Amino acid sequence: MSNFDYDLFVIGAGSGGVRASRMAAGLGARVAVCEDRYMGGTCVNVGCVPKKLYSYAAHFSHDFEDAAGFGWQVAEPHFHWPTLRDNKKKEISRLNGIYRKMLGNAGVELIDGRGQVTGPNSVEVNGQSYTAERILIATGGWPFVPDVPGKELALTSNEIFDIESFPSRIVIVGGGYIAVEFASIFAGLGAETHLLYRGDLFLRGFDQEIREYLATEMKKKGVQIHFNTDVEALSGSPGKITLSLDNGQEMSASHVLYATGRVPNTAKLGLESAGVELDDKGAIKINDCFQTNVPSIYALGDVVDRIQLTPVALAEGTFLAHHLYGEGRPVPDYTNVASAVFSHPNIGTVGLTEEQAREKYADISVFVSEFKPMKHTLSGSDERCLMKLIVDKATDKVVGAHMIGADAGELIQGIAIALKAGATKAVFDSTIGIHPTSAEEFVTMRTATR
Ligand code: NDP
Repeated sequence: MSNFDYDLFVIGAGSGGVRASRMAAGLGARVAVCEDRYMGGTCVNVGCVPKKLYSYAAHFSHDFEDAAGFGWQVAEPHFHWPTLRDNKKKEISRLNGIYRKMLGNAGVELIDGRGQVTGPNSVEVNGQSYTAERILIATGGWPFVPDVPGKELALTSNEIFDIESFPSRIVIVGGGYIAVEFASIFAGLGAETHLLYRGDLFLRGFDQEIREYLATEMKKKGVQIHFNTDVEALSGSPGKITLSLDNGQEMSASHVLYATGRVPNTAKLGLESAGVELDDKGAIKINDCFQTNVPSIYALGDVVDRIQLTPVALAEGTFLAHHLYGEGRPVPDYTNVASAVFSHPNIGTVGLTEEQAREKYADISVFVSEFKPMKHTLSGSDERCLMKLIVDKATDKVVGAHMIGADAGELIQGIAIALKAGATKAVFDSTIGIHPTSAEEFVTMRTATR
C-alpha cells in the first residue's frame, strides 16, 4: 500500500470519472472522486438524459396527429412546459442520488467541491490537500459560444433545459448534434423554431445524403432552416432579443440558443502549474493509455477530445481501471463507434460515410432504400425513411450503415455489432428479415443503387 492518502484521486464525477472510480475501487484501489457541479456530469444533468426526455415529449405532438388516421379522436392537445421541466428535474435528482449511492457502495469516497491539481501527486479541494499515487482528470467539456457582441443574451445547453418560460420564438445557432436535436425538440413542443447555420448544410462529417434528407424532413416538421447564415450581434434584453445577421437582415426571438460546439473543461484545474500539456484546442494530451506527460496524471473523456460521447468515456474509464489495477485490457477501439442524432426523425449511423468510403476504397457499392413507413399509410404523416449500406466491393464487407427514420438510434446498435464483427453484404443478405418492420430493409436491399 502506498503512503499516499489514495491510490487514485479522480477530478470529475461524470460518465468517465464515475466509471473509472467505481471499477478501480472494485479492483481494490483506494479511490476518491471530487465533483463541484453535477453528479453524473453533462450526460445526466444537461445532456443525453434530459435531452432524450424532452425528445420523447416533442414526439407526442406528431403522435397525437398520427392517431386520428387510426380512429382515435383526440381533443386539442395542450403542452405545459413547467410540467415537463419539473418532472425532468425530479428524475435528474433521482439519478444524482443513484450516482452518489453507486459510488458509496463501491467504496469510493466522494468529496463535494472543485479539485485543483497542486502537484504530480496532490490535489486541493475546498482548501484541503489530498495526496494520491495517481490523479485522473475527467472534467468533461463546456459549451463554446463565439465572441459575438451581446453573447451574454445567448443560452447554451447548460441553461436551456431549465428556462422559466416556454419560447414563443427560438433561434438556434449551430449545425451539430445539439443544434438539430434542440430544433426538433422545440418545434415538436410547439415553439416557432429557426435554425441558423453558417455553412451550406448542417451535420458536417455525416453522410451527405443523410444530411440532405434530414434537412427536408425537419422542414416538413416545421423547423425553419437558414443555411449560409451567421449572427453578427445580439441586442435587446432576455425575452426580446434581436439578432443582426451577416446577410444584413435582422431576426427577433424570445430565446437564442447557441449550440456551436464544446471545448475541454480545463480552466482553473491547476494543470499549467503541474506541467500537464494541452493541445492547440486546449484538450489534455495523452498517450494510448490515457497518461499525460506527467506520469502520475491521467485524463479521459471529453477533456481529451477524442470522441465526445458518453459510451466512449465509459469504455475509456473501464479500460483505465483495468489497465492500472486489474489484469489489463486492450485499448479502446474507436472504429465503428455507432451514434444517433435524436433529431425528428432520428439519425442512426455507424462506419464510413459514402464520401469517406469512396476515398478509402477503390470500388464501393451503395445500397439505398427510401420509403414511406407502414405506419404512415394510415397516419397521413408525410415522414419518410432512408436507409443505406456501403459495401467495399473487393472484400464484400459492409463498411458503413446509415438510417434516418423513426427509432434509427435503437436500430443502428444491432447493425453496429454486425459491422464490428466484419459482416459482409452476403451475411446481411442471408439474414432473414423481421416482417413487417422498417429494420428488415437492412437485410433485403438486393440491388446496388450506385
Ligand atoms: P458539434 O461539434 O457537433 O457542432 C458544432 C456546430 O457549431 C457545427 O455545426 C459548427 O459548424 C458550428 N460552429 C462552431 N463554431 C462556430 C462559430 N464560431 N460560429 C458559428 N457556428 C459555429 O457540437 P455540438 O455543440 O452540437 O455538440 C458537442 C458534442 O457533443 C458533439 O460533437 C457530440 O460529440 C456530443 N453530442 C452527442 C449527442 C448524441 O450522441 N446524440 C448529442 C449532443 C451532443 P461547422 O461544422 O461549420 O464547423
